[in-house]
Amino acid sequence: MVPMPAILIRNGTVVTAERSFAADILVDGEKIRDIAPSLPAEAAGRVIDASGMLLLPGGIDAHTHLDMPFGGTTSSDDFETGTRAAAFGGTTTLIDFAIQAKGTKMRDALDTWWKKAAGRAVIDYGLHMIVTDLGEAGLEDMDSLVAEGVASFKLFMAYPGVLMVDDATIFQALSRTARNGALICMHAENGGVIDVIVRRALAEGKTAPIYHALTRPVTAEAEAVNRAIAMAEIAGVPIYIVHLSSEDALNKVREARDRGLPAFAETCPQYLLLSVEELARPNFEGAKEKHHPPKLWDGLKNDHLQVVSTDHCPFCFEDQKALGKDDFTKIPNGGPGVENRLQLLFHHGVNQGKLSLNRFVELVSTTPARLFGLYPRKGTLAAGSDADIVVWDPQASHVISAKTHHMRVDYSMFEGFTVKGNAKLVMSRGEVIVEDGQFHGRAGRGQFLKRAARGGAWK
Ligand SMILES: [Zn+2]
Repeated sequence: MVPMPAILIRNGTVVTAERSFAADILVDGEKIRDIAPSLPAEAAGRVIDASGMLLLPGGIDAHTHLDMPFGGTTSSDDFETGTRAAAFGGTTTLIDFAIQAKGTKMRDALDTWWKKAAGRAVIDYGLHMIVTDLGEAGLEDMDSLVAEGVASFKLFMAYPGVLMVDDATIFQALSRTARNGALICMHAENGGVIDVIVRRALAEGKTAPIYHALTRPVTAEAEAVNRAIAMAEIAGVPIYIVHLSSEDALNKVREARDRGLPAFAETCPQYLLLSVEELARPNFEGAKEKHHPPKLWDGLKNDHLQVVSTDHCPFCFEDQKALGKDDFTKIPNGGPGVENRLQLLFHHGVNQGKLSLNRFVELVSTTPARLFGLYPRKGTLAAGSDADIVVWDPQASHVISAKTHHMRVDYSMFEGFTVKGNAKLVMSRGEVIVEDGQFHGRAGRGQFLKRAARGGAWK
């Protein structure tokens, strides 16, 4: 490898989860060497003028599904197109999900997902493991995966017969983390109840896509969140709730945290910005009623919610989503969003006074790094950290549209949304991979991240 010349980023405002301050950043190779006012330019091979710009740690999206098999199709972004789109939006790390197929070893799934990512990923990535079957040796397998840097596992309380595991399995997995230091991520919805409601709807001829939303009462989410946290409390371990979408579920997390329990939760831009009243527009089947989003914003502000991720899981509208036009149970779940997370949260959060700049950074980068064992290598701007840096133009205006986005999908949940604030330049481990709307990275440069056990959730 030819050593990269040092890069000096001058005149910007450095923003971390703790504070904002005027300083220059000197990048040497893949790392940040120094952050201080008025660093000398002589040693640098390139000087970037960041006057009027914010310098943010690269975004970390802890919930994506690239190249994911579902219902006979696969999510339309693979590790190349998905990570490239992420980079355009200022995200420099993803944590995706490998899925254990029932009756097989988790290790096989890890190998499968490494193959999907190898030669394709543009930015660094970690993997969570979705556990569908503990089998004979599942608990020992969890320990070996932690040793491989897969320090978090996801379990489903929904989708009976496909992904759902029972409470005994959940409790065993939770209990095991006391020993191996992993973090359990929970898809918390009462799958048995939802399944019955869905079958009733189908029997009544209610098959249109809107019924995807209408067959998921918020109480089914709140109940499962409550049960998941209770099981973690009995096991004496932390827990992380994924894609929390309703006020009712949020209240359960808040109550647990008020009691001092290490319960954490993420929400996603679609739950903050779209509601079921808007389902006429394309297209987000998981939406809730419109009184929920303001409560979720409050939750982000008051640290009842700790992370914003996307659950990026794109399926094309024309051919893939159309599978469900006459039967909502056949719609592949999930929507595209990995490119727009920072834009949407900055505009609707920071610009509209709902979040401070530092809280914004904490939600999109620092806390996911801490909880998932990447901090301080990722998630902050500091000497010695990876040079994953976003030069953010707070004045840049951008209209979100499927016509211009970089995700490989033919619609946008946020079509026509105008946002102010966008990534001007994106650096991943010291390399400029996006600048002024041009891509300079390459497939395969992204590295698998071995994440540490006993991350921030354990402290
Ligand atoms: Zn997901």
